[in-house]
Amino acid sequence: MDTLDLKNRKVNEANEYAKKVLGLINKKDADITKEDAEWITQETVKDFRDYVNPGFLKYRKSVTKDEQFAAVEWSDEGDCFKDVNGKKYIDCLGGFGIYNVGHRHPKVVEAVVNQMNRQALHSQDLLDPLRAFLAKILADITPGDLQYSFFTNSGTESVEASLKLAKMYNPERHTFIAATRAFHGKSLGSLSGTAKGMFRKPFLPLVSGFRHVQYGDIEMLEKTMEACALTGEDVAAVLLEPIQGEGGIIIPPEEYLPQVRALCDKFGALLIFDEVQTGMGRTGKMFCSEHSNVVPDILCLAKAFGGGIMPAGAVIANEKVFENLFPNPFMHTTTFGGNPLACAAAIATINILIEEKLPERAAQMGEYMLDGLKRAAEGHEDKIKAIRGKGLMIGIEFQEDEIGYDFSKKLFDKGVLVAGTLVNAKTIRIEPPLTIKKEEIDTVIQTVAEALK
Ligand SMILES: *Cc1c(COP(=O)(O)O)cnc(C)c1O
Repeated sequence: MDTLDLKNRKVNEANEYAKKVLGLINKKDADITKEDAEWITQETVKDFRDYVNPGFLKYRKSVTKDEQFAAVEWSDEGDCFKDVNGKKYIDCLGGFGIYNVGHRHPKVVEAVVNQMNRQALHSQDLLDPLRAFLAKILADITPGDLQYSFFTNSGTESVEASLKLAKMYNPERHTFIAATRAFHGKSLGSLSGTAKGMFRKPFLPLVSGFRHVQYGDIEMLEKTMEACALTGEDVAAVLLEPIQGEGGIIIPPEEYLPQVRALCDKFGALLIFDEVQTGMGRTGKMFCSEHSNVVPDILCLAKAFGGGIMPAGAVIANEKVFENLFPNPFMHTTTFGGNPLACAAAIATINILIEEKLPERAAQMGEYMLDGLKRAAEGHEDKIKAIRGKGLMIGIEFQEDEIGYDFSKKLFDKGVLVAGTLVNAKTIRIEPPLTIKKEEIDTVIQTVAEALK
């Protein structure tokens, strides 16, 4: 058989497979049979192994060691998602902060479906109205004089755009300062800001001019900025998360962010806040920076921005920064960023956060949950080092990675999903939907108490 025949056979096979999968996608949940569920599970594991990345099967706590059993997700609603066999999990991972308004909030679904039935993507030439409306809404809800928005498809892209905005503003400056334990994404630009050596090392050298200072240490930042100024390597921008997420829910000293703002002003550097994870109500305010009344020059958003329905992100900057893109708005572009579906989702999300008072709810429920978890941890100091958080962004720090992984695996088996993988489980993160019910928080606390025994 010649290669052309073989290729044709493969194309036919691919099409049959696609038809089978489309049949499953278009089936009502109630019509998914036991055989369907088995097929989905087996094929998912097989295709992950052969065509995605076998590494995932090792690291995920949803797969048993021998791969005999794997939990494959199939649907979600409210505070929970279900695997293909119908087992329900309380979602305390929240997609690392995607599901602030819950899973498939009806208002977000309604807006996106209606927009999809009208126009899904934009022409790229005419003026697209939802982009304009969303930008106006953002200017109204973001702190201080933040005014102009550029829309992206992810947090990484928001950070990339923020770095380029800072370069446009300060073309003669090349130094950026980020913090140890920071996470800003993994594209080459954003990775330059990210701190973890394991992720950076194979890709060095990254964007030149990046330095890292100890997060929360204002003296180190001051000395570094001073040294940069003295050596003619003036700082273009300081890039920080107001609370570090991926780094393990690190809350800086109360005075830190105002002092950082003052230093940026003193040295003529811009302040970029990466609120990709802390934004959209997560920490008990619409934006985490509001806790300390600090207004950045550039704000990065994503994750929950698309309401858990659409991938969507934004950078919002003040006029002095953004005006450098006025003469030529094509200096930084993306085809899909700010598309009508993403904008519809973001507008609905903001409407829900405001009307359902979800930032306030995050503050109240967060306090309740933090108290409960601390009580559940009493007497387990041999395993747990600290529990901390703000709003519904909570971290449990273990004495060792291994205990954290065993713990998160136990919770998973009991139907509660928390962050914590085999490679990163020293601090597990709890970031449920801000809509989570009190009874579910009680269930989580009780499950934590049981798992610790
Ligand atoms: C998740 C995250 C990013 C990266 O966002 P992606 O959407 O994964 O590209 C950047 N910064 C912070 C603080 C994040 O939590």
